[in-house]
Amino acid sequence: MTELLHMQDNYLREFDGRVASISEGAVVLDRTCFYPEGGGQIGDKGTLSDSKSTFQVTDTRKVDDEVRHICAGIIPQGFGPVVHGSLDWNSRYECMRFHTAQHVLSRYLLLNYGLETVGNMVKPGESRADYQQVDHITEDMKREVEAGVNSILARNLDIAIRFMPREEAITFLQEAGYQVRYLEMVPKSVSEFRVVAVGDYDFASCAGTHVANTGEIGRIVIGKSKNVGAGKQRIYFSLSRA
Ligand SMILES: [Zn+2]
Repeated sequence: MTELLHMQDNYLREFDGRVASISEGAVVLDRTCFYPEGGGQIGDKGTLSDSKSTFQVTDTRKVDDEVRHICAGIIPQGFGPVVHGSLDWNSRYECMRFHTAQHVLSRYLLLNYGLETVGNMVKPGESRADYQQVDHITEDMKREVEAGVNSILARNLDIAIRFMPREEAITFLQEAGYQVRYLEMVPKSVSEFRVVAVGDYDFASCAGTHVANTGEIGRIVIGKSKNVGAGKQRIYFSLSRA
């Protein structure tokens, strides 16, 4: 089982861990700050080093309770036993900005248009989210959503991360207007939820990485949108620092 250091500290970018196993080009450690692909956010990249060599981590995946650092090159069985991990911080930080922006965008579309988020992909450069119960998104609506979301981001809201017992979290999130039916589907073995609050604006159950304040995000720019079937519209968005 790999301890996920990002759950407590989204800004941790280096750490030391012990090698638990090496197989098929992947290194499993006892702990890591690398985010494993999930919840729509891509896996982190970076490097793992021991005293002799350094390997590029090209992706990070979670399989059961293990986090696999997928490395370029052949990893010798003697790699470790203690390794130093370092994130590609530019890529990860951009994911943090995009992921928090996506939460605000989704909340805005729910509150103002009744649109429910049914999927998302958070990655550097351009991210996207899918919304249900909408046939078409007009240019006017995009500009209105941009202005609305940007006014919220400009409030410099702090992002707080709390760990709550399952039932308490579900009740709390339901009262906060979050779509909790997905949470009911989470295996009962999960007894604690990580609740991400964007100021007093949005509350969500999320294991992803987030910035500490919306002031770090900049401004959202809504790009193209398209119909992806089953009454869903996909909205692409980017971020600008200006
Ligand atoms: Zn999230």
